[in-house]
Amino acid sequence: MAINQLDEETINRIAAGEVIERPASVVKELIENSIDAGADKIDVLISDGGRNKIVVEDNGSGMSSDDAQKSILRHTTSKIRDYNDLWSILTMGFRGEALSSIASVSKLSIITKQENEDGVKVECEGGEIKGKKAFAANNGTKIIVNELFYNVPARKKFLKSRNYEQKQITDVVSRYALIHTNKAFTLRNDEGVLIEKPKVSSIKENIAAVYGVDVAKESFIVNKDGVRGRIAKPTINRASRDYMSVYVNKRFVKSKIAEDAIMDAMKTLIFHDRYPIAVINLDIEPREVDVNVHPAKRIIKFKDENEIYQRVFDAVINGMQAADLFSTSKAKPKQHILGEGPEKKEKPKESYFQKRNDTQSFLAAEEEGEYQLDVNIMGQIHKTYIIIETEEGYSIVDQHAAEERINYEKLREQYENEKVERQELLNGCVLELTATEFSSIIENSNVLGELGFYFEEFGKNSIILRQIPATISLEYDLKDTILTLLEKVGRNTARDEKKEESLKYMACRSSVKAGEELNFKEMKKLIKKLFETNNKYTCPHGRPTMLRYPLQKLEKDFKRTE
Ligand code: ADP
Ligand code: MG
Repeated sequence: MAINQLDEETINRIAAGEVIERPASVVKELIENSIDAGADKIDVLISDGGRNKIVVEDNGSGMSSDDAQKSILRHTTSKIRDYNDLWSILTMGFRGEALSSIASVSKLSIITKQENEDGVKVECEGGEIKGKKAFAANNGTKIIVNELFYNVPARKKFLKSRNYEQKQITDVVSRYALIHTNKAFTLRNDEGVLIEKPKVSSIKENIAAVYGVDVAKESFIVNKDGVRGRIAKPTINRASRDYMSVYVNKRFVKSKIAEDAIMDAMKTLIFHDRYPIAVINLDIEPREVDVNVHPAKRIIKFKDENEIYQRVFDAVINGMQAADLFSTSKAKPKQHILGEGPEKKEKPKESYFQKRNDTQSFLAAEEEGEYQLDVNIMGQIHKTYIIIETEEGYSIVDQHAAEERINYEKLREQYENEKVERQELLNGCVLELTATEFSSIIENSNVLGELGFYFEEFGKNSIILRQIPATISLEYDLKDTILTLLEKVGRNTARDEKKEESLKYMACRSSVKAGEELNFKEMKKLIKKLFETNNKYTCPHGRPTMLRYPLQKLEKDFKRTE
């Protein structure tokens, strides 16, 4: 096969594939350019999840008429001159690829004006300049990207729903809004405002604007050895890692090392499967990192990963100690000992039954159905376990696990018959959400509907809940319940998995917590229902609901028999 030299247009489109994956990547690159241009006001407007139109307007330095035209050529940058400059980079961009890449796969216009100069408008299509004219404009730059991927059908097909793309964009804008205090950001779509983050004086206020006042109020400061930011107290947490934002010199990066350090520092205070909400910036000498290992610069390489880990870990511990969240002895604070969710009750107190592993095999070997229903309830211990006397001995029931099993089977049956029982919330319940949470809820409204949640949009980034599944216990925070449910739905792709995970979770949120006192009537009802389920010995997560001990075991332990 003969070798061809690829033409410029083909080279550009191939390069664009690396930098520009989807509308959110366009937004990311344009925002970074605005930041590099010294803007302190950046407004983003999107239409149809950015698939139809993306506009990013800033009040930065602007470009000269010549530069505006040059900027869309490949490898044109005002930020570095040669390779050596790469190691002292303090700007967001430097590869000179973004604008040329975006221009090659869209219909792009640049309107820009430098102070004391005339404005100019450059229009291009598929990377080719179609026109250039004087244009009245404000100081700064406005980039309009129409019909992204109009000339790359394969990429266009690969884009997801409007809401999905919008969510990705919201996520990108949030990450910048969270770290830059002295810059104002807005994100709008055709319907209204998604993010509005004014210029403020602290990360705390950024968090308030993006994640809500409640999260901001309940957060502690981290500030040690160039690791600076804020983290929500461990009691305020999320079901995914997406709420941990780590930055290096204010550049958002996906850094597993830093995230692990944060999580490890908080490990004893936060439950398994839950993640912190954090905004943490690392000041690092540009020479100590290589930002040029990923086309979108999302991943960076630290020269000394161990040092980074230790520095972040220490800073977070230090922050928690200063906020009185963490004693030097690393003891678990009391309120966490009992726990509440299935993930949270790994060790409900130092149970003295824990050592009894030797009975497990005996229990597993037993068949179901031998137990008569009218067991004797002896009482509840540690507000967590119910002791029942059985014909053969006694059993210990974990009240939360038992109720989970009961509710799971009930929910499953209702779901399969497409009639999940609902309870009406009399005055509705308004949930204030972040833009990301909001779009995720709207996108999944069908699934939520099938699960029994009924709601309406209620102003900007808010919904009003009208009905919820009848089983859901109101003692749990509804917002947290829905958001966690969405995480479960979002994480799994297969419909069956989504269903299973959602039902399991809802079963948990329908169940009495460990640590709740039950009277005899309540205990009896619970045990009766448990015995009526199809699988009474395990909860939907696979943990035992009941441990059974035969009388012989007691007799042996008391040395009554040999
Ligand atoms: P890079 O950011 O890596 O330099 P880009 O392709 O993103 O490459 O941008 C090319 C050049 O265009 C930049 O170096 C900058 O000089 C100019 N430019 C792009 N966006 C803006 C903007 N919003 N304001 C001022 N100049 C800009
Ligand atoms: Mg750039």
